[in-house]
Amino acid sequence: LIVMSAPTAPPRVLTIAGSDSGGGAGIQADLKTMLALGVHGMSALTAITAQNSVGVQNFWPLPIEAVEQQFRSVVDDIGVDAVKTGMLASPELTSAVARLIGTLDPRIPVVVDPVSVSKHGDPLLAPEALDALRDELLPRATVVTPNLDEVRLITGLDVRGEDEMASAAEALLVLGPRWVLVKGGHLAAEPESVDLLVGSDGTSEWLRAPRHDNRHTHGTGCTLASAIASRLALGDDVPSAVRAAKEYVTGGIAAGFPLGAGIGPVDHGW
Ligand code: PLP
Repeated sequence: LIVMSAPTAPPRVLTIAGSDSGGGAGIQADLKTMLALGVHGMSALTAITAQNSVGVQNFWPLPIEAVEQQFRSVVDDIGVDAVKTGMLASPELTSAVARLIGTLDPRIPVVVDPVSVSKHGDPLLAPEALDALRDELLPRATVVTPNLDEVRLITGLDVRGEDEMASAAEALLVLGPRWVLVKGGHLAAEPESVDLLVGSDGTSEWLRAPRHDNRHTHGTGCTLASAIASRLALGDDVPSAVRAAKEYVTGGIAAGFPLGAGIGPVDHGW
C-alpha cells in the first residue's frame, strides 16, 4: 500500500510584465524561470509585444482595467509571496501598478526590473513614465535591478566604471528602494560581468561572474529579476536571493542558444 500525502503548494510569485511572442524575454522568461526554481508563477500582463530574435516589431499596452483585474483575480484568491515587475509601457500603467502594489501587505517582497529599452534599442517604456517609476514605484521596491542604460535614464548618471557604479547605486537608494542591484554587464571593457548590490542598511556586495562568449542573451534581465523574486518567495534574504539569481542567469547565458536571425534566448533547461 502506498500512502500519498497531500501535495503542499509551492510559493506563489506574480509577474506584472509584457509578453514576448518570441518566447525569450518578458513573461515567457519569467514563468520559465519560476518553473525552474520551484515556485508557482502567475502573470498580470501589461502589454503584448510582437517580437522575435531581431527586435520588437510592435507593442500594444493593455487597458489599465485589464491589469487591475488580473492583479485582483490573482491576489484575492490565490495570494502572492513575491511580485516582480517588468515592462510597464506607459505612465498610466506604471502608476496603476504602483497603486496596486500599494494595496499589498508591505512585507511581500517586490522586485522592480525598470525595463526601458530592449537590447535591440526598441523602446519598451515611454520616457514620460520615468517620473511615475521614480516617485511611485521605486519607493515600494524591495530590490530594483537597473542595467546601465536604465541607470542613466533614471538618475542621469553615465556609468563607465566600477566607482561610478557605486555612486549610481547610492543615487538610486535615495529614491526609496530597500536594495539596489546595479547590473554592470554592459561595461564592455570588463572581462567579467560585475554587478553591485547595495542596501539601505549600509551593506554592499560586488557580484562577479565570468563573461561567457555568447551573444544569445535575450531575456537575461527578465530572468534575473524573476529568479530574485522566486528565491525571495522561497525564503532567502535579499543578498542570498541575488547571488542565487546571478548564478542562475550565468548558467542560462552559458547555455543560451541561436534562434532566428538575431539574438537567441537565455536557456532555462541547463
Ligand atoms: N520584451 C519584453 C516584454 C521585455 O520585458 C524585455 C526586457 O525586459 C525585452 C523584450 C527585451 O529583452 P532583451 O533586452 O533581453 O532583449
